[in-house]
Amino acid sequence: MLKAYLTHLFARFSRIRSTMTDTCIFCKIVSNEAKATIVYRDEQATAFRDIHPAAPTHILIVPNKHVESVNALQAEDEQLIGHLFTTAARLAREEGIDGDGYRLITNTGIDGGQTVFHLHLHLIGGQRMRYPMG
Ligand code: AMP
Repeated sequence: MLKAYLTHLFARFSRIRSTMTDTCIFCKIVSNEAKATIVYRDEQATAFRDIHPAAPTHILIVPNKHVESVNALQAEDEQLIGHLFTTAARLAREEGIDGDGYRLITNTGIDGGQTVFHLHLHLIGGQRMRYPMG
């Protein structure tokens, strides 16, 4: 009973947060209110260079609509998520890192290391990635 109520409250809170775009830096980049080095844009997604690159290529691919994290995804977002991945593959080819390989990361929540609460894929490459992760 309590669990169901908390789940309901969390879902409600997530829906409210998902419409709060006025303070989100990635929403501002999508809408051109904030500057970024944009490398790709279409009607569903925007990609720009990370301000603190972890490797020679470090691009963030974000949905244009505000989605807080993987936790906030709905069934209707499945096409969008596929689009983020095909955009990553396209950018990896354009950056010339598809042959040697790269890493795609989506941090989720505090323990996942997420610091910007607008869903994004990190496309990182141009050097050999280190292990272990975590
Ligand atoms: P995460 O920690 O997974 O949420 O990743 C957020 C990423 O966004 C970090 O790698 C930051 O360096 C990057 N970032 C934050 N603000 C900006 C910005 N204004 N332009 C480009 N990248 C940013």
